[in-house]
Amino acid sequence: GQCTLRCPVGALIERPDWHRVLDVLDSRRKVTIVQTAPATRVAIGEEFGFEPGTVSTGRLVNALRMLGFDHVTDTNFSADLTIMEEANELLERVSGKREGKLPMFTSCCPGWINYVEINRPDLIPHLSTTKSPQQMHGAISRYGPIAKKIAEETKEEPYIVSIMPCTAKKDESVRPGNRGDIDAVLTTRELAKMIRHRKIPFASLPNDGVFDSPMGESTGAAAIFGASGGVLEAALRTAADALGLGGTVEYKGVRGVDRGVKVITIKGLGSVAAVSSIGSAIELLSDDDWKEKYLMIEVMTCPGGCLGGGGEPKSDDPDILQKRMRGIYHIDSTSAIRKSHENKEVQKLYDDMFDGKPLSHASERMLHTTYAPRGSEREILGRFLSAVDQRDG
Ligand code: SF4
Repeated sequence: GQCTLRCPVGALIERPDWHRVLDVLDSRRKVTIVQTAPATRVAIGEEFGFEPGTVSTGRLVNALRMLGFDHVTDTNFSADLTIMEEANELLERVSGKREGKLPMFTSCCPGWINYVEINRPDLIPHLSTTKSPQQMHGAISRYGPIAKKIAEETKEEPYIVSIMPCTAKKDESVRPGNRGDIDAVLTTRELAKMIRHRKIPFASLPNDGVFDSPMGESTGAAAIFGASGGVLEAALRTAADALGLGGTVEYKGVRGVDRGVKVITIKGLGSVAAVSSIGSAIELLSDDDWKEKYLMIEVMTCPGGCLGGGGEPKSDDPDILQKRMRGIYHIDSTSAIRKSHENKEVQKLYDDMFDGKPLSHASERMLHTTYAPRGSEREILGRFLSAVDQRDG
């Protein structure tokens, strides 16, 4: 069924990894870095009695510090970084400066990547080579400024954890090319279990925690990665500015949690589509003209995007996706900065690590990835289990 399609590994084994992470935190034998995804902050509150969509970013940061994480960083920082690479990748494909076909598919949903590699390897040249925010963040955590400081002080490597709305992100972290960057991926639900296990009073924590710097600053464009259409909208904000197409910030036509295909046309650029669910992607691809019609296509395999991910809290509220979505767009509309290229910490990272610009040699090496045809879901499962065995000894 659909669930198996969207998370071949996650749906089969929802591997509880949180005990292993608690052991590391308790033993204090490693310096830890944690990142937390855009969709977690609007859903974790549900596990502790808050209305769905309540923005709990500050409580979440406080809870992560109380659990003992040394560096509490934000995946949204790397969502901005993703847009820097992906929007420029799109522009280079359009100008012919870069290999890779149009329309370009977004690459931050491992459910979609697995689907393409297994079922439609002919589409691989259309996939953006830009890594997902989780994996960019993993690489920067492993090799960037925080890791350097830890190495200077302790001669050790950090232990790197990510909190995701998604079970398929566990498999993404052990893909060839990603392996070794992230030590453990926990779902939003697993994090809630850890918080309860430690008897941290999440509901009464002040909602005022702030992420570390560096790797903590983010824009409204990063926040909307958690909703279907968000990656596309964020990329458009940056691509439109690069092309001098005016100051539009909101592209509301790609928003919404309904399954299906949302299309908008931007003057001077072309048409783009946001797709929610594999079924809708198959439908879009069955149209003979899809290659001519669109410039960029976002595919998120969960209903409504990551806010409906398989690792989010369970709920029988029929409006759950709507409510979480409202939380996400509230973060965006109240952000002081809403375009990824205006993120100051991201600009500094480019200066310090990537020759000052996206798609430099250095950023191609660390922030991009490759794809290959895969035989079957069984093969992906095998890869996942052997990587986990190696990692856990
Ligand atoms: Fe994971 Fe988001 Fe893709 Fe769902 S839509 S599989 S939560 S990345």
